[in-house]
Amino acid sequence: AIDRDMSSEVVDSNPYSRLMALQRMGIVDNYERIRDYSIAIVGIGGVGSVAAEMLTRCGIGRLLLYDYDTVELANMNRLFFRPDQVGMTKTDAAVQTLSGINPDVTLESYSLNITTVKGFETFLGSLKARSSDGRNTGVDLVLSCVDNYEARMVVNQACNELGQTWMESGVSEDAVSGHIQLLVPGETACFACAPPLVVASGVDERTLKREGVCAASLPTTMGVVAGLLVQNALKYLLKFGQVSPYLGYNSLKDYFPTMEMKPNPQCSNPACVQRQSKPARDAAAKAKMEAEA
Ligand code: ATP
Ligand code: ZN
Repeated sequence: AIDRDMSSEVVDSNPYSRLMALQRMGIVDNYERIRDYSIAIVGIGGVGSVAAEMLTRCGIGRLLLYDYDTVELANMNRLFFRPDQVGMTKTDAAVQTLSGINPDVTLESYSLNITTVKGFETFLGSLKARSSDGRNTGVDLVLSCVDNYEARMVVNQACNELGQTWMESGVSEDAVSGHIQLLVPGETACFACAPPLVVASGVDERTLKREGVCAASLPTTMGVVAGLLVQNALKYLLKFGQVSPYLGYNSLKDYFPTMEMKPNPQCSNPACVQRQSKPARDAAAKAKMEAEA
């Protein structure tokens, strides 16, 4: 049997020994904490599926996967899905592959549209789930890997309502640039405060795909964006290095712009404005201190 004990010192057969080496080398204080964390990934397409695989190989505790689509042959220019999975829901196909890679990860498959009333309810409920003893079994981070504005606005709404930190990602319609962004309700700009279309003009204004346009896609750009996204998620959860508030990727010029955005007091999203108030921010700071204690 494969020894999957993280504490093992055996280098050759243990899939975690190279990860535990991060700790011995002083990069991460406590790598094993990764097993306590839950991440929700919305959109299991070109970026989300690869992000899910990376987190699975890192030994994340639990992954919640959301997508309304099925695997198509047209998806084979991206990484992850295989031709024999055509016709399966993307979330079930992902669970099939990921459970084979690392059976230690708890995987939950939600084949739904988060923009419908029922889909939103299930989505929200799964993010704030509580066990019978009242313990919070919700998620530690939400990764948005969807390809349209409406779905991003819905993730934004859910996270503002819950005070849930999340990271957004996108790849441009022409497949040669992308971005990742950290969103902390009340602390940073939310998606409605400052959509990248407006703020980042000149940088990657075509990062958001238009409805009805046959977008280009490259496994390279999607793989890079998934890597940037998961790297930021690992830094955020395991507390090492600097967590990027925004990181762009322009592959034509190998240009990686960064920036920071404050929340907009006049944001059109009422839950965002509420999260910006002093009592809400004090409560969030207290909850964070308690979680870390
Ligand atoms: P393409 O549109 O380029 O053919 P795609 O639809 O697979 O490809 P990707 O950019 O690879 O797009 O991935 C985005 C993923 O987000 C898709 O799998 C899509 O089904 C999912 N998605 C988009 N909107 C929603 C939504 N409202 N609810 C659930 N999943 C969504
Ligand atoms: Zn806002």
